[in-house]
Amino acid sequence: MKFVGAHVSAAGGVDQAVIRAHQLEATAFALFTKNQRQWCAAPLSSRVIDQFKTACVKYRYGPGQILAHNSYLINLGHPLTKALEKSRCSFLDEMQRCQQLGLTLLNFHPGSHLLQINVDKCLARITESINIVLDKTQGVTAVIENTAGQGSNLGFKFEHLAVIIHGVEDKTRVGVCIDTCHAFAAGYDLRTEEKCTETFRQFDDILGFNYLCGMHLNDAKSGLRSYVDRHHNLGAGNIGKTAFSYIMRDPRFNNIPLILETVDPEIWPQEIAWLKAQE
Ligand SMILES: [Zn+2]
Ligand SMILES: [Zn+2]
Repeated sequence: MKFVGAHVSAAGGVDQAVIRAHQLEATAFALFTKNQRQWCAAPLSSRVIDQFKTACVKYRYGPGQILAHNSYLINLGHPLTKALEKSRCSFLDEMQRCQQLGLTLLNFHPGSHLLQINVDKCLARITESINIVLDKTQGVTAVIENTAGQGSNLGFKFEHLAVIIHGVEDKTRVGVCIDTCHAFAAGYDLRTEEKCTETFRQFDDILGFNYLCGMHLNDAKSGLRSYVDRHHNLGAGNIGKTAFSYIMRDPRFNNIPLILETVDPEIWPQEIAWLKAQE
């Protein structure tokens, strides 16, 4: 089964995200469980938790179809101790929110060295952050997203993600989410079926499909190896539609949330319908 949807707004409460996903005829969705640009959020009330769970049952979304996304402020590889601790604290809160909502997948960007520590040190900090937080939570998998490599963000090479995973103690609760736009911007070509086969062969060799917990399906305004993160609507950017059709036909992408973060939410219903038609 393919689970397809988009990153929907949770304005008005997390249960509203479920309704928005249903309106798109999505079979998966992503959401922020709190404002993604603020450090602090009020704890989830038991009423909100109940409403979310009820909506998920009503509209038939199981935990394997929902990919929570953490705040953009968090940097789990931060070079400075105080800021690193703040990020870890916030990440723990995000994991706990997922646990409360019955969610099993939390997607996050690995972290940035900010030109103050080297790549290896930063990756080690990220690994340590994941270990600390997994130790304090249950049932939620830390899903590391590949990045475009913009600024000093790590995670743009599959090898970065492999190094992080290698150091995670509980390998049953760590995985990856591959964003097609980020991969392309980081130099992984996806423009033809042959290039897709080659890119995903590398992915399988370096990481392994057993760690794939989700995909972000975005075309790219940015170019191959541009290290710039600019999403585009499917078929409108430099990747083109072939890659998305390829993913929909390949069973290795079954049973994980396939999430649009494309630039025009107005056409998500059409994009979702198109993706479903490729299967
Ligand atoms: Zn993404
Ligand atoms: Zn992006």
